[in-house]
Amino acid sequence: MSDKWGFNTKSVQGGWQPKAGEPRVLPIYQSTTYKQDDPDFVADLFDLKENGFFYTRLANPTLSAFEEKISLLEGGVGAVSTSSGQAAIMYALLNICQAGEHIVTASTLYGGTHTLMASTFKKFGVEVTFVDPDLDAEEIKKHFKPETKALYGETIGNPRLNVLDFKKFSKIAEEMKVPLIVDNTFPTPYLCRPLEHGANIVVHSATKYIDGQATSLGGVIVDGGNFNWNNGKFPELSEPDPSYHGLKYWETFGNQAYIVKARVQLLRDMGSVLSPFNAFLLNLGTETLSLRMAKHSENTLKLAEYLNNHDKVEWVWYPLLKNHPSYELAKRYLPLGASGMLSFGIKGGNQAGKKFISNVELASLVVHLGDARTSVIHPASTTHRQLTKAEQEASGVAEDLIRVSVGIEDIEDIIADFEQALNKAVG
Ligand SMILES: *Cc1c(COP(=O)(O)O)cnc(C)c1O
Repeated sequence: MSDKWGFNTKSVQGGWQPKAGEPRVLPIYQSTTYKQDDPDFVADLFDLKENGFFYTRLANPTLSAFEEKISLLEGGVGAVSTSSGQAAIMYALLNICQAGEHIVTASTLYGGTHTLMASTFKKFGVEVTFVDPDLDAEEIKKHFKPETKALYGETIGNPRLNVLDFKKFSKIAEEMKVPLIVDNTFPTPYLCRPLEHGANIVVHSATKYIDGQATSLGGVIVDGGNFNWNNGKFPELSEPDPSYHGLKYWETFGNQAYIVKARVQLLRDMGSVLSPFNAFLLNLGTETLSLRMAKHSENTLKLAEYLNNHDKVEWVWYPLLKNHPSYELAKRYLPLGASGMLSFGIKGGNQAGKKFISNVELASLVVHLGDARTSVIHPASTTHRQLTKAEQEASGVAEDLIRVSVGIEDIEDIIADFEQALNKAVG
């Protein structure tokens, strides 16, 4: 029934379905554990022969309802929530990749994902190759090795806001017999559903637009159920797991093998679990997701057009501006809007950038994105200040670049604020 619903109905009603006498609103099950009556049943829970709650590190009803809603919105077969987006990305990859193995990723990544892959995964013995996503398919395929286990990218990449070429990437993944894993944080499932375009696994920092009000950290992994883990490359999924008496995930759980394994191995052993209170808030945020994403997108396009015509602005990046290299891809994959992130270059470089940030009044300087309030950051003097000029340029952070997360206030007020700050920053 619920997978026949439209997007808005799923966001409001999906997940928590109370029976008579139960709370209408998803309750916060603030309990680490669950009463049971039958020791044999508990033994079966431990052996994954039965479904039920026994310890919140593995499953909790508040988390389950939120997971079910996000899975429904993305069109997946199941989801696991995590304590942050970083944990979701880490588990999504470690679930199929171990020491001695390899990942290929688009190089245009969120900063935290870049350091996770370039530095922390190296310590785990997992090697990552960063490829320019604009290379043609044959060039990208040259970077694959026999031990490559995943192809990774972001629907809207950092910091160029480039849109993933799903057709090219999903074809490469299919030919190389690895899953395509996509970070869908910026568009959310309202603006783009990667599983409909050939992705196999979707990850989210729910901290951003899914929350929408900057209250809670959280992450989600969604399994598309559309990858054949029995293709000989993934023995961890097709062969017996000694930590569950020789259970075979693929044989036992079919197209949910990946997501069951992520929960019962990685959450069990590493434990980056979402808190029930955060799941409650993230679930509330999801109820208004479509309304907010439509407004974020509408405001951002208007602000992009205003900046694009401004004589104190060098350049503007927004995928739905005709001069953006991803314009055609944005039209294809983001028909309802391109979300709320834009970047622009201010005339006068570093100094003018800092001055602009100090002079905005409605917008605020925060290290965050994707909430209801408009925010600005000047990466060259803040998040990327430790890098040399050459490193800044290589990572796409020009010294005049200002990144904006456009909120859902009245666009006239956002533009008026930018106008007065631009006038003060650029003589
Ligand atoms: C913020 C973010 C992350 C990391 O998420 P956290 O919830 O902060 O751990 C990953 N990917 C993208 C695209 C993000 O914006």
